[in-house]
Amino acid sequence: KNMFIEQFCRYAKISTPSNPNATTFPSSQCQFEMQDELFRELSQLDSVRLEKTDKCLLYAYYNEQNIQDRLVICTHIDISFDAPNQNIKPQIHTFNGDDIILNGTSIKLDAPLGSTIITSDGTTLLGGDDKAGVSIAVLLLKFLVHHKITNIPSICFVFTPDEEIGHGTDNISMEKLIGGCKNASGLTLDGKRFKQVTCDTFNAWSFSISCSGVTTHAGSAFHAMDCSLSRMVSLISDFQREFKDPSVSKDDEGYVFIKDCQLETKFSRISGLLRSFYGQEIESFKEKIKQLCDLRLPPSYNLEFKFQYPNMREFISAEMEAKYQKICAKHGGCFKKFRGGTDGSFLSMKGLPSPDIWDGAANYHSIQEYVVVEEALEALQVA
Ligand SMILES: [Zn+2]
Repeated sequence: KNMFIEQFCRYAKISTPSNPNATTFPSSQCQFEMQDELFRELSQLDSVRLEKTDKCLLYAYYNEQNIQDRLVICTHIDISFDAPNQNIKPQIHTFNGDDIILNGTSIKLDAPLGSTIITSDGTTLLGGDDKAGVSIAVLLLKFLVHHKITNIPSICFVFTPDEEIGHGTDNISMEKLIGGCKNASGLTLDGKRFKQVTCDTFNAWSFSISCSGVTTHAGSAFHAMDCSLSRMVSLISDFQREFKDPSVSKDDEGYVFIKDCQLETKFSRISGLLRSFYGQEIESFKEKIKQLCDLRLPPSYNLEFKFQYPNMREFISAEMEAKYQKICAKHGGCFKKFRGGTDGSFLSMKGLPSPDIWDGAANYHSIQEYVVVEEALEALQVA
């Protein structure tokens, strides 16, 4: 436990937000600092082979003499850009049932009495997503090395940058992950609580719709002005009637989310996200959007859909799912759909089925973020 706390706090202090607006890879240079720290720490371990890339990926191999079976454990080193994230100061508490007050704000905790809790000082996020996962992975590797455990598959630990902006696996080498192993499977440890295990993530697409209008002097606009703004506003109100947005969608319901808009007479544009656990529902969202655009936006418009990530379920066998359900039941966890995606969604699509298990982090992407240490340690046992 002390090792987990020491490691986690050391990693959390290295601020590593990814940058959604960058065109470089990785999206922020600060992520190299974390890669360096892990490289330095893992170099000290016997019988571990390391490979780092200039795209900020780090691979750590253990027990490579098993050339048949391979387990890939994936965690991400970047943290969210959604909340203040500089100068992170982790604080350690013992949960006594009361709210924890940080910087004048009280944080409601949901954890067993006596749990060890790590928070920030209340001015920044903590980065438990996914530094908790990284800490679990490193501790596991240290444990295997220390106890010289070899009657297991070969393991490739991969630490990815830019997961938070959906680019964690862009530069990943499946060859490096799997090697020549015949039986390879994956696992991600990423940002969940209450011992949640998931084999089911959203299918994710984005959309962008634009149309142009014709401006005139308002006094002589009769039958001459074509206001793209009013066409787009009609479309937006159709969306509100036809689709659920994220604020009214829960459990296994999908949504259509207008995230951004620009509304002017001359030019208007909306963009957003399509999410659903079911591929068919995504197709029906697209079909309906096309119909509504045809109805509201003539004489002309531009509609684009872009694939983001798939539901990992498509790639996970019934056998594998049953195995994870069993693990989950054994630890009193919850086997649940996850209303988001992980690096594991991409890895599964690329041929390495990779369910996700909890890392003990809660309230992620906010200054109220916290980690329940005992829950993280239980994930370590599962891994
Ligand atoms: Zn994460």
